[in-house]
Amino acid sequence: MRDFNIAEAGDVRNGLASDVYFERSQSLLRGFPDAMVTAEITVSGAHFPWILFSGLDEVITLLEGKRLELRAIPEGTVLRHRDDSGIPVPFLTITGPYREFAVLETEMLGFICQSSGISTYSSIVRKACGDTPFFSFGIRRMHPGISPMIDRAAYIGGADGVSGILGARLIGESPVGTIPHAVSIIYGDSAVFEAISKSDKKEGPKVALIDTFEDERFGAVKAAEMIPDLDYVRLDTPSSRRGNFPAIIREVRWELNQRGFSKVKIMVSGGLTAEDIPALKRAGADAFGVGTSIASGKTVDFSMDIVEVEGKSISKRGKFSGKKIPLRCENCHAVRVQTGDDEAICRCGEKMKPMQKDFLKGGARVSAYEKPKQIRKRALEELAYFSAEEGEQ
Ligand SMILES: [Zn+2]
Repeated sequence: MRDFNIAEAGDVRNGLASDVYFERSQSLLRGFPDAMVTAEITVSGAHFPWILFSGLDEVITLLEGKRLELRAIPEGTVLRHRDDSGIPVPFLTITGPYREFAVLETEMLGFICQSSGISTYSSIVRKACGDTPFFSFGIRRMHPGISPMIDRAAYIGGADGVSGILGARLIGESPVGTIPHAVSIIYGDSAVFEAISKSDKKEGPKVALIDTFEDERFGAVKAAEMIPDLDYVRLDTPSSRRGNFPAIIREVRWELNQRGFSKVKIMVSGGLTAEDIPALKRAGADAFGVGTSIASGKTVDFSMDIVEVEGKSISKRGKFSGKKIPLRCENCHAVRVQTGDDEAICRCGEKMKPMQKDFLKGGARVSAYEKPKQIRKRALEELAYFSAEEGEQ
């Protein structure tokens, strides 16, 4: 018996967390010689205007030590799933004996499908927020076994911080959070505000939840009066009580300013999506906590296909055969997928460079570990090439 309904690390490494049909094919093929193949992982359909790729870290961990080569587009790259002429972009290219990695297909796809879905939705929230900070508060809606992955992906996608303890440890930041409503319910708002006012600012910004019992406007003023160095009032108003949320924020801002608390900022949370953000920002929200919409970001539908067997181009119907190389223009970010590594010149006149990097050669890591902070930085630079108004692909 296992304690929780979760695959443990050993199960994942052994392919036990895979679909059975890979294992079945392995036993069916006993007696056949193994074949040297190249497989590519592309996106079959996307629900997002762009993809902010993540989850590769775990694929590398899974494949390390196997007799194969892994080339891939680095995490934090932002791109569309097809090139400018409509050819699917190979995000990962694996070359090796088929049976060396076949049974791990489900797991490899699972890592990148879910993580990229979360990091991509987080990047859409990032676009909506502009320079306004937002934090990932969504792990409570997901299985705890994957909470570090969720927080890492949300952070890489652009979140300024995460609420999870393990997630924050993984990304090398302090977790961000307030006190739960429950504490106010048990001890009363006044006792909690007094405790916050006595707390040490070194432990993080001072945030007071103001809507446990009272109207937001009165709660905000009360908190600001009781906590002299208060950074944020947090409105975590459930939608059933909200009425017109921007109007509530405007009123809280006005009332705080009227009483000399213009420095106290307003943090807003409670079932927010990217679409909700612009109106709340205009009304005066200074920071957002975004939970379920990021943590449950729709998965990116990656799939794996064989494109070469023993060096010969071959593929199933509907797929493009042959090993392909995605190139990108350093100047205008145009993407072109081609066979062969001939140099290509972009329409704009600049050189196009290969987007994939070598990650494993003969199973050994050949690229340095990249910290989530560095990946996030690059992702945000790349995100600047995309506009929030771009439609679905
Ligand atoms: Zn160009």
